[in-house]
Amino acid sequence: MSSLPVNVEIYKKIPPMDDIVLDKCSLLQTMGRDDAFFLVSLGDIYQRLSQWRNLLPRVFPFYALKCNNDPEVTKFLADTGIGFDCASKAELVQILDLGVHPSRIVYANPCKPCSHLQFAANNDVDLMTFDDIHELIKVKQYFPKARLLLRIQSNKLHKAKHNFNKKFGCALRSAKRLLVQAKHMHLSVVGVSFHVGSLPEDVTSFSTTICDASLAFKLGEDLGFDMTILDIGGGFPGVDTEHMSFEKVAAVVNTALDTYFPESRGVHIIAEPGRYLATPAFTLAVSVIAKRVVQENFEECSGCHACLDVCECHGAFESVGDDVVRKEEPIRDEAMVRMYYVNDGIYGSFNNVFTDHAIVHPCVLKSSKASSQPGGPSKLHRSILWGPTCDGLDCVMRECLLPDLEVGQSLYFRDMGAYTVTLSCDFNGIPRPLRFYICDDTTWSAIYPNPNQDSYFKCVKADLRKDCLHQLDCLESIPATWSHTTSVPIM
Ligand code: PLP
Repeated sequence: MSSLPVNVEIYKKIPPMDDIVLDKCSLLQTMGRDDAFFLVSLGDIYQRLSQWRNLLPRVFPFYALKCNNDPEVTKFLADTGIGFDCASKAELVQILDLGVHPSRIVYANPCKPCSHLQFAANNDVDLMTFDDIHELIKVKQYFPKARLLLRIQSNKLHKAKHNFNKKFGCALRSAKRLLVQAKHMHLSVVGVSFHVGSLPEDVTSFSTTICDASLAFKLGEDLGFDMTILDIGGGFPGVDTEHMSFEKVAAVVNTALDTYFPESRGVHIIAEPGRYLATPAFTLAVSVIAKRVVQENFEECSGCHACLDVCECHGAFESVGDDVVRKEEPIRDEAMVRMYYVNDGIYGSFNNVFTDHAIVHPCVLKSSKASSQPGGPSKLHRSILWGPTCDGLDCVMRECLLPDLEVGQSLYFRDMGAYTVTLSCDFNGIPRPLRFYICDDTTWSAIYPNPNQDSYFKCVKADLRKDCLHQLDCLESIPATWSHTTSVPIM
């Protein structure tokens, strides 16, 4: 932890979202820019951490960097003292460069390129997952002292939107064979890991897989391995629904842990939450860059005779001799669809619509412009939101209800922190959104109690083990009952 995060605006009280978005839109306007932008709220991340500590006190979080690798967020998370789940050399570099001690990293990719494995070895990142003999062979060659977690498949009784079982994890029936192979190779297996899948459909997938993990643990213990770590992976919801809330997941996990891994067993429990921590922190603001008002099913009826007879817009066009022409009389507003083209799309931050099954919800920025619309801001019209690229697939929302918007007006979308910035590209030369960081001063002073005192950071640099302990002290300021004795990340 060598410096304070930069570029973070500290507020006494975070203003309403509309006000902040409007403020940033005005700022950009004065700079002659009309980029999409993110508002990143560090306080939201801190609230998630507090909730985690309250509801899952036995489980130490290792944030899954793949979910959102924003540098300021990552620095902030590092400064709270939690650990990191890294999946590649670049992710390891990002975290190590922040001064995070290697003991606070799990290299949780069971398929590691040799050069990345070598890098982990050179930098003492020794906790890592495996699920196959071929990985063991590589580990033996490049990092024989690594501490290994056997990744098992999640219990097959349950489904998830992103199920990883086909790609990762060994079946329970293969666990013994793999553990025996590790033993013969004099490698050190220290525990078990799993991932129930991202966006699991059933909270009990955690309990059944924790039960499976305890069987794998027993196999390892019987072979003489010192099994001390259970990694329960990710899959914690980013947005609560009635069916799947963090509270429900935590209750199921706690009961399963108490049943299969009671505290008396002395096992460190860790997890790799991604979307749970990142989702609420990012709000994406976009603006309308172009607009068309078309008749419903416009595409089908752009001139063919057949469509005059069958499509819903029948009546909008008429035949005059051999030509098809638009009827003169005005078309009812209800038959019209407003198409808005906004400055970020599915090749950018809205890739989550395709890759993560996200259903996004637009909020219209309340501005004086909106309230001066004919019919007032409350009249809603059937609308389509297109992204800015030239690709026809680039559609953010195929159907939504919005007030009549003008070019230049802004919309914002909450809960855009998970699998958005890490998966976006600049296809068509559309730039990725700018980012503005905000934080309330209560959160800020909890994490950075003495921002002007250099000594806080100096002591960290002097002794990296103290670093971890110091950060945990810092977390104590969260009003929760986190048990440091069971959750210290140095294992
Ligand atoms: N850990 C591993 C190994 C993963 O592959 C993923 C997501 O793909 C995560 C953690 C994070 O999952 P989530 O965002 O659902 O918490």
